[in-house]
Amino acid sequence: MMIYLGIESTAHTLGAGIVDGEKIIANEKDSYKPPEGGIVPAEAAEHHRKVGRDIVNRALEAAGLTEEDVDVIGYAAGPGLPPCLVQGKKIAEEIAGRRPVLGVNHCIAHIEIGKKASGFRDPLTVYVSGGNTQIIALSKGRYRVFGETLDIGLGNAIDKLARHLGLSMPGGPKIEALARQGKRYYPLPYTVKGMDLAFSGILTAAKKAEASKEDIAFSFQETCFAMLAEVAERALAHTQKTEVLLTGGVAANKRLAEIIRGMAEEHGAVFSVPEAQYCGDNGAMIAWLTKLVHESGAEAAADIRPRWRTDAVEVRW
Ligand code: AMP
Ligand code: MG
Repeated sequence: MMIYLGIESTAHTLGAGIVDGEKIIANEKDSYKPPEGGIVPAEAAEHHRKVGRDIVNRALEAAGLTEEDVDVIGYAAGPGLPPCLVQGKKIAEEIAGRRPVLGVNHCIAHIEIGKKASGFRDPLTVYVSGGNTQIIALSKGRYRVFGETLDIGLGNAIDKLARHLGLSMPGGPKIEALARQGKRYYPLPYTVKGMDLAFSGILTAAKKAEASKEDIAFSFQETCFAMLAEVAERALAHTQKTEVLLTGGVAANKRLAEIIRGMAEEHGAVFSVPEAQYCGDNGAMIAWLTKLVHESGAEAAADIRPRWRTDAVEVRW
């Protein structure tokens, strides 16, 4: 049985995961937290450089292995912030020596770990993270993007709203808690364009809203989540998939899960959201996808690909 080590470093999180055959045997991470404001790519990369080897060692320790036991090493080649991607690749190459090093796609890793965690075979995936928001399904050998954000990722929008309301990072859980106390819906622009979404206009309107913090958080969530559900529903009707997978860091939001679950069940589809450690950025998903790519002989990246599209990869596994 081959042992795969995966390194995640596309944004704020440096993760290291290990897969042995079909089993995930380690998943360690450490995230860069900006002292104030948003993520500064060079600072995040410096964080990854500092903690990289420690996180890998923690993963090896958790798995009861040493570096020599690892057969193949994978890293997330993109999409992501270039300085962060460079660090992930460096860490992988330093450990690898003569062993194979494969660059794999970060978004596809989210889908594949979600499939593994849920037991799904062919889901419609609603992938909502800090930087990405995409509705994805496999069609003709590729993960096609049926709808996506035209500007910022929903997680980013939520974090920006949180900062505006004086809450610290990450804003998601705090906005969720505030929203639960919200009572009155304050009208915000609902921006679905064809199958795509936009969040920055809603964010601007929410920042200007004359309402309580609770009502703003509530209205923001309800608007954005309804938009996501609408696009996901149309993609589900079009693709006729029977499984709906919710993943990415924002998938931790209970209200979002409730809305997407309701939509799926109305269409007779089953719904799943993986446990939190596999929803946010993590190393296990990179190790798992590295295994799929390696075993199937699919194309791997030899260098970073900051704008690597989900649908640019031929799915051979
Ligand atoms: P990722 O980029 O996949 O690691 O996800 C990080 C994003 O998930 C950040 O923007 C967080 O604010 C967001 N997030 C985490 N927990 C929640 C939550 N409970 N509700 C909404 N967003 C969340
Ligand atoms: Mg991600």
